[in-house]
Amino acid sequence: MSSTPHNPTGEYQPESVIGLPALYRWPPRPMAALNYLFYGMLFPWGYLYIGLAFVGWYLLTPELASMRQFQAGWIAQIWLRNAALLILVAGGLHWWLYMRRGQQRRYKYHDQWPASDNRIFLWGNQVRDNVFWSLASGVTVCSAYEAITFWIYANGFVTPPTIADYPVYFVICLWAVFFWGTVHFYCVHRFMHWQPVYRVVHELHHRNVNTGPWTGISMHPLEHLLYFSVFIPLWFLPVHPVIIVLLSLYMSVGPAPSHSGFNFVEIWGRRFIAGDWYHQLHHQYFNFNYGNTTAPLDKLFGSWHDGSRDSLRAQKERKRRRRRTAV
Ligand SMILES: [Zn+2]
Ligand SMILES: [Zn+2]
Repeated sequence: MSSTPHNPTGEYQPESVIGLPALYRWPPRPMAALNYLFYGMLFPWGYLYIGLAFVGWYLLTPELASMRQFQAGWIAQIWLRNAALLILVAGGLHWWLYMRRGQQRRYKYHDQWPASDNRIFLWGNQVRDNVFWSLASGVTVCSAYEAITFWIYANGFVTPPTIADYPVYFVICLWAVFFWGTVHFYCVHRFMHWQPVYRVVHELHHRNVNTGPWTGISMHPLEHLLYFSVFIPLWFLPVHPVIIVLLSLYMSVGPAPSHSGFNFVEIWGRRFIAGDWYHQLHHQYFNFNYGNTTAPLDKLFGSWHDGSRDSLRAQKERKRRRRRTAV
């Protein structure tokens, strides 16, 4: 299987530039838009999270009735479920791509392996640092928001609609999770790049220029507090509990493949899209691509970098001009 184009240092760069999803093109192309909604946007990872959300709610989450009072037992069960699913996906990808090196450096964006002797990371080790922030802070804050959401539903402040009574609403909610998650991410992330906040908070995530699966939610606890506030609308808008678990998975596990550091992962002789070239460019250049392509707000606000040299040049020029006007 070809893995070109790799540049002379061995870094992989997708050949094509990043375009707007068909959903947003004008004039409308209905079939291409549908293809994006059902395939481009969700295959394979979105479908995996939807499947895991059913498993997570029906098999791994306590009964709603048992969550009327905040108690350590059921809250711990939610934490353990979230940690286990993150370990399954992030740990699985890390094992295959970085420990077993199952595909060597094929499709790897960066020519280096993760740092194991760099003092900017806890214990000088990038992977241990990333695992620590992801589990100790990321999973904990995510589980806390999820626990509050379930407590609200368990006490009847919000009544969850059943799938049988509202099947169409349920399906709309499935898609809405992905759009809402990306819009919310853009807003929080844009704020994180405000210099005073960046220096104290977001810098922790950006220590990872050469990202890996555990980098996904390796963030400062204050960033986690804002990042997982994505649950708050569900405190007022009734959704089925599967949707709550799906949102949790999309926000906590979703960043693992998108930070995997590899554009494709090869399993059983097939290759699946793994990395997110769009977000990888953000880790490389910092001031572009704050959101992602599902909700292309960067296009709207002029910070879209499509991966081409022309785009980079245009963005740099734009920044220079802005600085000159500010002086
Ligand atoms: Zn990132
Ligand atoms: Zn950033």
